[in-house]
Amino acid sequence: MKVNLGVGAYRTEEGKPLVLNVVRRAEQMLVNDSSRVKEYLPITGLADFNKMSAKLIFGNDSPAIQEKRVTTVQCLSGTGSLRVGAEFLARHYQQRTIYIPQPTWGNHPKVFALSGLFVKTYRYYDPATRGLNFQGLVEDLSSAPSGAVVLLHACAHNPTGVDPTVEQWEQIRQLMRSKALLPFFDSAYQGFASGNLDADAQPVRLFAADGGELLAAQSYAKNMGLYGERVGALSIVCKTADVAAKVESQLKLVIRPMYSSPPIHGASIVATILKDSEMYNEWTIELKAMADRIISMRHQLFEALRERGTPGDWTHIVKQIGMFTFTGLNTEQVAFMTKEYHIYMTSDGRISMAGLSSKTVPLLADAIHAAVTH
Ligand code: PMP
Repeated sequence: MKVNLGVGAYRTEEGKPLVLNVVRRAEQMLVNDSSRVKEYLPITGLADFNKMSAKLIFGNDSPAIQEKRVTTVQCLSGTGSLRVGAEFLARHYQQRTIYIPQPTWGNHPKVFALSGLFVKTYRYYDPATRGLNFQGLVEDLSSAPSGAVVLLHACAHNPTGVDPTVEQWEQIRQLMRSKALLPFFDSAYQGFASGNLDADAQPVRLFAADGGELLAAQSYAKNMGLYGERVGALSIVCKTADVAAKVESQLKLVIRPMYSSPPIHGASIVATILKDSEMYNEWTIELKAMADRIISMRHQLFEALRERGTPGDWTHIVKQIGMFTFTGLNTEQVAFMTKEYHIYMTSDGRISMAGLSSKTVPLLADAIHAAVTH
């Protein structure tokens, strides 16, 4: 049996991709509505989608939204949102250096460098504790030049699964605001981390609440399972409504020569679900079921290692958050598990918990046990 724990997509207990029931329903409604046509969307995308996406991340009664200080544009999933935001910053923002966590999602440095930003890193992960290197993070952000951009994973940090606590987020916020560092949130897993959409957006809302500027890239790939539909949004929170309007004009100038306008289908699915309270509730239930299955896989794997008496501290498996566990296994151990047990994962030892099932947990535990004891 082969077990693929490398893919960054949710799988059911049976190892199959999942299309949410609420998504199927929304698609059916769209298909049945014969008044719908396939005209181009505006450059900034579907207006309803943008409005609802901003509310989803900043909260229903966000003062920034009420004061019209937020401009939101529909982009091609999380990656496209990061790219449009980065292209905008490279053209118009005075500080073209972006700090990304070490380590981070492999595409981040490429997206930002190709957009014309200078990419630097800040310390994030401590291999010794398999937790956050908060001291290192604070030191590195303290010595960043004033005004620099800082990429923050809103929740469920990829690849480490390590997030700051609420208190640490507050300290990061104070430090960043005191140095006028510009937060650029990457929110690829809202609702997927804890099963609660509001809880997972807490760090972003903490920064938005102080009235300062920020960028946020949202993806509906994971939390609505819309991977290939490429649905996402970029929001820029500005100091005034006047600036927000100007920012929107400039975003259009970034988007137009890249792809003219975004695709209509996926955004229509999202807007249909977010606008209807009954469908929204069904989504939250299905989303929580996905998050819960992942959390249950963490507990099952941890238990299986405990039963085998596998040497080492494995508590990070249950402590880490989101789709991935950064196991702490080294390159040789990973190669051993692939060769001897046909278990596939990224060479940094990251495993996708979403790719596991009750059936495959014992095999993975055997493999980890053998890798650390052989
Ligand atoms: N950011 C992070 C941290 C991710 O893990 C991912 C997806 N793996 C993305 C952004 C972007 O994904 P997508 O473009 O599919 O929305």
